[in-house]
Amino acid sequence: MVRKRDLDRPEALWKETDMSRGRQVDAMVLILRTQGCSWSRSGGCNMCGYNTASDSEVTEAQLLSQLDSAMERYDGEPFVKVYTSGSFLDEREIPAPFRDELLQRFSSAERLLVESRPEFITPDSLSAMPAATTVAIGLESSDDEVLRHSVRKGFTTADFVRSAEALKEEGMMLRSYLLLKPPFLNEAAAIDDAKSSISFASSYSDEISLNPVNVQRGTLVERLWKRGDYRPPWLWSLLEVMMNAAPGPRLMSSPSGGGSRRGVHNCGECDAKILEAVRAFSFSQRPEDLEVGGCTCRKGWARSLQDGARLQTAVDTDRHLDDGLII
Ligand code: SF4
Ligand SMILES: [Zn+2]
Repeated sequence: MVRKRDLDRPEALWKETDMSRGRQVDAMVLILRTQGCSWSRSGGCNMCGYNTASDSEVTEAQLLSQLDSAMERYDGEPFVKVYTSGSFLDEREIPAPFRDELLQRFSSAERLLVESRPEFITPDSLSAMPAATTVAIGLESSDDEVLRHSVRKGFTTADFVRSAEALKEEGMMLRSYLLLKPPFLNEAAAIDDAKSSISFASSYSDEISLNPVNVQRGTLVERLWKRGDYRPPWLWSLLEVMMNAAPGPRLMSSPSGGGSRRGVHNCGECDAKILEAVRAFSFSQRPEDLEVGGCTCRKGWARSLQDGARLQTAVDTDRHLDDGLII
């Protein structure tokens, strides 16, 4: 039996720390259950399973109940992040009267982070937001071919640039999300893609969050992964990209499912120490925090880089070679 969702409660809420005004502060993360991402209704992005968190029947009254419930747990954290598994600036997801109520309730926060696709970032939609707003955009890659064929993003880098300029015009901050290893890129190509994307996004962003792809349920990535045609990135690849980023906007990563089979992972022995190094670097920005020493699995990573490039394939070469499917 499918359990009926409680649409009067947020999808999730937790506390964490993040940076605001150059220091580490307490943050509250609120994920509202909304009607969902507009792009998701046209099939959505290849790696995104967020539509499972949405419900087309959510009403404005239920959004208000979700907010009431969140306020009971709000302890005045200076940094508030409000996610919707879609676009906060899409009025179909977040109706204007509800948006205004929410902004009023969190008016004492010194920093507010919301997410939006570029098509909803307009001078009009931004005029409703406080100056302390940071908007996060899932740019994912600076390569329009990757955006179109690999991510299926439904917008282009030109759309991103237009949004970034609109945010700048309003004096608001931009956090750019980039993917590490969208489908159909092998490990080496994924590293190159992430490096060039960081370099591109640096010109427009105040912060860059590098998100290694994790295998979410009901997605194309999951179907590829199940048949051995996709492996989430290695943690060594994440380190490689972060260590080689030129100084610029704050670079962070907080990998979902890190260390698990569905997330960015290595051999299981060294995963925890690398994830901790990435976490530390995300706050300190000190490259030395990424120096983690070696592990025997580094050879396996090097081999998978070579195999993917040599065979010109993005499949999980280790799995196929072990199964004797590639000779
Ligand atoms: S990644 Fe973002 S834009 Fe793409 S389908 Fe998911 S919520 Fe929508
Ligand atoms: Zn290892």
